[in-house]
Amino acid sequence: MTGRDRWTQDRTHVRVAIVGSGFAGLGAAIRLKQAGIHDLVILERARELGGTWRDNSYPGCACDVQSHLYSFSFAPNPEWSHSFSRQPEIWAYLQRVARDYGLLPHIRFDHEVRDARWDDASQRWRIETTRGEYGASLLVMASGALSDPAVPRLPGIERFEGRAFHSACWDHELDLRGKRVAVIGTGASAIQFVPEIQPLVERLHVFQRTPPWIIPRHDRPLGAFERALFRRAPALQRVLRGWIYLRRELLLVPFRHAALARLAERMALAHLRKAVRDPALRRKLTPSYRIGCKRVLISNDYYPALTRPNVEVVTGTVAEVRARSVVGEDGVERPVDAIIFGTGFQPTDQPLAHHVRAADGRSLTDAWGGSPRAYAGTTVAGFPNLFVLPGPNTGLGHTSVVYMLEAQLEHVMGVVRLMDQHGAGAVEPRAEAEAAWVREVDRRMAGTVWVAGGCRSWYLDATGRNSTLWPDHTWRYRRRVARVVPDDYVLTPARRDADQPAPAAAD
Ligand SMILES: Cc1cc2nc3c(=O)[nH]c(=O)nc-3n(C[C@H](O)[C@H](O)[C@H](O)COP(=O)(O)OP(=O)(O)OC[C@H]3O[C@@H](n4cnc5c(N)ncnc54)[C@H](O)[C@@H]3O)c2cc1C
Repeated sequence: MTGRDRWTQDRTHVRVAIVGSGFAGLGAAIRLKQAGIHDLVILERARELGGTWRDNSYPGCACDVQSHLYSFSFAPNPEWSHSFSRQPEIWAYLQRVARDYGLLPHIRFDHEVRDARWDDASQRWRIETTRGEYGASLLVMASGALSDPAVPRLPGIERFEGRAFHSACWDHELDLRGKRVAVIGTGASAIQFVPEIQPLVERLHVFQRTPPWIIPRHDRPLGAFERALFRRAPALQRVLRGWIYLRRELLLVPFRHAALARLAERMALAHLRKAVRDPALRRKLTPSYRIGCKRVLISNDYYPALTRPNVEVVTGTVAEVRARSVVGEDGVERPVDAIIFGTGFQPTDQPLAHHVRAADGRSLTDAWGGSPRAYAGTTVAGFPNLFVLPGPNTGLGHTSVVYMLEAQLEHVMGVVRLMDQHGAGAVEPRAEAEAAWVREVDRRMAGTVWVAGGCRSWYLDATGRNSTLWPDHTWRYRRRVARVVPDDYVLTPARRDADQPAPAAAD
């Protein structure tokens, strides 16, 4: 038996392997099944599905895009209890969607993908997981842009004798009542959990490197009458979704036009003035960069929480951690029992990209050289039959990521149809088409708040390029990618001699 024979016989073979069971992985599985492709597995490293909404169980965790838009268009939920739902409700929604669309038998929990390598001879991905190997014709990388916490290596952290954890791995065993706590970071998660823990703790030191721009959160409970109305008249819910969509697209305008950005800044500053009377604290909380450059946050209770007597906002980061204290850049030692990292994620250097390899062994990370790029934000030259969801430059600063994922999925399905029509065994974008796409994205990006004026943010990659955000209206993205341009792709006929083992049914 040759090495290749052994490879085809020992592995589970499927047509599609999807890595990750968040919005992207579940959405991909649903669209594939709707197109009659049932021979698929979802490889998930955790023991439960849900991605972001499984992991981020910190107090106060909620979405910051209205739920009627931040959900699948094909699976509306009339039962949302608030305009901006809390994490348990979004997680339950994803679990319900997975059940309703028959995805559970396809999910392989506790299967962390360690390596995936394209094999030209068999026109398959060889996928190594912690629980065995898989072969797949198509690989959907839906492992999440915000699924791996970024934890700074604070000097001395290994000596700390209290509890230290990231907001995405909340320590629910720890009772924070009466504790002295240091929060590192003031991003989207921190501004949600700080108001929740402030009333419990004895002392809260919030270490802030850069103050975020914060605008009011127009949240409200959705009453029984409204919910019954959506249940009985689903069209009404679609109208509301459309209305929210349009309003959120308007939010993009100040990010693209500096004069309007000033107007938005005035509104945000009025929100700050109303909540914080103390001029010294207000000064600390006033951003010195253009609004939108970093993620704009929404909250009504963060500023009030910072004005409470048990809270101190420390500008700068932690210089040193000692056994029972943290020392700020100001040299002051603050005794603490716990450190909570609200330091976000690492979207431009996804761990799995280091382990997804072309036939020659080059990883996606190598190919990207510090700056992720993909044709239509989805497919990558040199990496056949690979789809990256969400891909480079498909992130958003103003509206629902789920909308972009659905647009990407239209593209994926178009490429799969193209393969079927041509009897292709492999497909990848032409390098020139990919380069032209990246030029177009960079052209749209030029002059926006995300790159103008030397503003630094987590949207920028190691080369200083913004490879995270789609810099225009989302309908423009959808219109550009929904229809696949066949000439932009290289199709390789299915090899007659390629091993074609009988697929293992996933359900
Ligand atoms: C606290 C928080 C709030 C947010 N709020 C909003 C919002 O209001 N609006 C919005 O548009 N976006 C929001 N986002 C962004 C959010 O991440 C996306 O909207 C969306 O949930 C991402 O879905 P995903 O499937 O791409 O990734 P994830 O939900 O991160 O799912 C990825 C999955 O892949 C799995 N995985 C990763 N690596 C491997 C591996 N090697 N092998 C196997 N499995 C693996 C993970 O365990 C995870 O289950 C928020 C993010 C956070 C963190």
